[in-house]
Amino acid sequence: MAGDLWFAFKGDRMLVRDEEESTNLVGNPAALGLDVIFEEEIGVLDGRICFAAEVEGVEPEGSAFQDLRSLFGVLDERCFVMAGRAIQVIAWNVMHRFCGRCGTQTGRGLETERFSRVCPRCGALYFPRLNPAAIVLVYRADEVLLARAPQFPKGMYSTIAGFVEPGETVEQTVAREVREEVGIEVKNINYFGSQPWPFPNSLMVAFTAEWAAGELRIEPMEIEDAGWYTADDLPQLPPKISIARAMIDDFVSRHSLDPDDPATPENTSRSD
Ligand SMILES: [Zn+2]
Repeated sequence: MAGDLWFAFKGDRMLVRDEEESTNLVGNPAALGLDVIFEEEIGVLDGRICFAAEVEGVEPEGSAFQDLRSLFGVLDERCFVMAGRAIQVIAWNVMHRFCGRCGTQTGRGLETERFSRVCPRCGALYFPRLNPAAIVLVYRADEVLLARAPQFPKGMYSTIAGFVEPGETVEQTVAREVREEVGIEVKNINYFGSQPWPFPNSLMVAFTAEWAAGELRIEPMEIEDAGWYTADDLPQLPPKISIARAMIDDFVSRHSLDPDDPATPENTSRSD
């Protein structure tokens, strides 16, 4: 039987081995001579138990600590998702060593409460916290709205996104973010899907929405360019495994006139 799978992090960098054609996880970090500061069971992949580990020490021969973002599209997709779970569980543990209310050192919570830390003095409970974000593909007849944020890779355009604020529904976030970032109103906001996004601690909740009113007027602090594009004339897009790309590919599959377009469904890999 195959062994356990270890997602070993030093800071936000994960230990991986570069092999001939692929990048793979390492074995048990303690057996590799690393100091394990924290470990937690986080799930199962193909019958193998997965552990998150916070480690210290020098990378073993043939392996390297790599930024998790750089492993996006390099690691197997399910493995990448589990790595995202691992880094968030580790970050939660690091951030809640002490109680935020009374400052006492926390301990593990009840066995039945997965991923819980509890304050022995005041009883406060701490779970990993997710920050929900809305992401929306806005369309107008056969055109799709794509925008660039200054921090995007050069030349890349994507859909509009933003964090949910206290007291909002995700649909209200969609309408507000579109209004704030590009100055237009939308209608027919419909759920598309969701995707965990560990940079950091997000859950992307994706929607499509139809243009309702207004001309594009970008908010220069957040957006450096935005425009309406047809399915056969698109700029550089986000990577395949992002939910933004899944929405754009879905739009293209319904609007492209070119049967050989690379983004048509038979050539599209998307996660569900
Ligand atoms: Zn406390």
